[in-house]
Amino acid sequence: AAKANGKNTFVYFNDAINEKLMDKIQIQSELRKAIENNEFIVYYQPQIDLSTEKIVGFEALIRWNHPEKGILSPGEFIAFTEETGLIVPIGYWVLKSACCQLKKWEEEGFHNLTIAVNISARQFKDQDFANMVRETINETGINPGNLELEITESIALLDLEYSVAMIQKLKDLGVKFSLDNFGTDYSSMNYLKRLPVNNLKIDKSFLDSVTDNRSEQNIVQTIISLAQNLDIAVIAEGVEKNEQAQFLKSVKCNKAQGFLFSEPVSGDMADQVLKKIGTL
Ligand code: C2E
Ligand code: MG
Ligand code: MG
Repeated sequence: AAKANGKNTFVYFNDAINEKLMDKIQIQSELRKAIENNEFIVYYQPQIDLSTEKIVGFEALIRWNHPEKGILSPGEFIAFTEETGLIVPIGYWVLKSACCQLKKWEEEGFHNLTIAVNISARQFKDQDFANMVRETINETGINPGNLELEITESIALLDLEYSVAMIQKLKDLGVKFSLDNFGTDYSSMNYLKRLPVNNLKIDKSFLDSVTDNRSEQNIVQTIISLAQNLDIAVIAEGVEKNEQAQFLKSVKCNKAQGFLFSEPVSGDMADQVLKKIGTL
């Protein structure tokens, strides 16, 4: 019986691998078609200035409106696009869409709203990256000072020299930079002072227990004062509860983003959120 069981387990295991592989091949072929079929959507989540509680900008977050599965989050497909390199054309599509939305807001009179766009390692490493961003700015006619590019610490540290030069090149155009998911990777003082970023986004994981955990409070406070000493603004990510927002206010965190204020929403809904919460 043991032997039979073992054999069965092996068969199941094999099937599971096959199924996974088929899933992967299927998703990748669907992703290729998704670009042509215009199945991607950009959602926008507001970023709130904590001292005024008004909207100062939005983060662009991709969604895939899958023909059978409905709206999928990046966690369900972004890894596949990175493996295949499809993230590069998809990433430019997101950048272009976000800049078009920003232009619309600028034309409606919201001159100071910012748009943050997530940049993957593959895009950032592309020698042509700065040119593509410059072209997108020119084509859409946005104010480059309203565009923020988000990279993670691990992307920035792949090649620090290259990153500093690339960031500087884009900052010379007026574009701003944010360090996403701060605290989850390296977080060394030494590189932070060398990276010319404008914003640091404290990862959600630090906020989760911040209201009932003294050491978590100390960490957040330390990150904030470290950043502010370096002239870097701080955004807290994943703020869900009012107590978290109150704590962040008390330690002079500049901005916050999270379900407490709004979930990521479609461009049309973002207009309504903008009206409801207001802007500076
Ligand atoms: P991220 O850039 O750190 O974005 C923040 C994520 O946290 C978003 O997930 C957002 O919906 C979620 N979030 C915001 N507030 C809250 C909250 O209060 N509670 C909880 N539980 N979650 C909150 P999302 O949209 O699923 O995106 C996940 C990740 O996928 C992003 O993390 C980013 O790394 C990546 N991503 C999204 N859009 C793009 C894109 O256009 N290009 C690239 N390369 N990556 C993207
Ligand atoms: Mg981000
Ligand atoms: Mg993040």
